[in-house]
Amino acid sequence: MSTRVEVFEVGLRDGLQNEPRILSTADKIYFARELVACGIRDLELGAFVRPDRVPQMADSGRLFALIRSKRSDWGPARLWSLVPNRVGLHRALAVGSRNFALFTAATNGFAEKNIGMSIAKSLREFQAVKQIAEESADGRVRFRGYVSTAFGCPIEGKVSSKKALKVIEALAKLPVDQISIGDTIGVADPRGVEAVLRPALREWGVSRIAVHFHDTRGTALANSLRALDLGVRVIDSSLGGLGGCPFAPGAAGNLATEDLIYMLNGMRIKTGIDLDSLARLSLLMAKKLKRPITSRYVQAWAKSKCE
Ligand code: MG
Repeated sequence: MSTRVEVFEVGLRDGLQNEPRILSTADKIYFARELVACGIRDLELGAFVRPDRVPQMADSGRLFALIRSKRSDWGPARLWSLVPNRVGLHRALAVGSRNFALFTAATNGFAEKNIGMSIAKSLREFQAVKQIAEESADGRVRFRGYVSTAFGCPIEGKVSSKKALKVIEALAKLPVDQISIGDTIGVADPRGVEAVLRPALREWGVSRIAVHFHDTRGTALANSLRALDLGVRVIDSSLGGLGGCPFAPGAAGNLATEDLIYMLNGMRIKTGIDLDSLARLSLLMAKKLKRPITSRYVQAWAKSKCE
């Protein structure tokens, strides 16, 4: 097993967009800087979506404009924004965003509900988004495609691996640089993970496949471990376990970054991320959001500090 895994931190976007409390732009910048200081290299921190639907992300334009004004401060970190369509892309390009996450699903029901497009329509939209972005930024852009509901859907129920693989293939052929395979409502188990990942890795290679697990039913770490065994080297996770999905009822709890890193550290797999600094940051986030942190590692860490 190679000894390095890239942790893709989604807390400041996927996490915060499901929180009732809105974090200020200054706080977001503070947490983003601290995450980078902890060793995070890929950081999703904005979404150019409709502010009336996702008010937590309404300041993404201001956030990226502030970052652009001091870009050199951020070193090698890649800062990502979600763009659902051309309207979002134009807003993102205008403030200097260059790493774009595109969002579709393995099921039409969820795609329609979440992004207001069928899967086929979203893929056509992404083609246009990609072309515009590449032309206006001289090709200096990166794309990551999310396949949500890859294992189960709140509207359509269980999702076959065949269905998920079809959308993964479409994104791979678009092409996007990386495809993040998502268990949006946290129903996947290691066997189901294998059914999707084995063919996906064989066909599209380790460097292009990432996983995005939710811990709704307590299987996120088990699924991550299975993914690692199969060769996956990019895993999405969220500071403290923040967030879920506002349009997927019952979806709670992204895999916590700290829980993932604790396991990887134990397995001698390097991430370059300092676990204790992250745990401290999570506690600060809990204070800001006035909510408990779901990460088991952070809970145990905080308790050990009090004893
Ligand atoms: Mg998520």
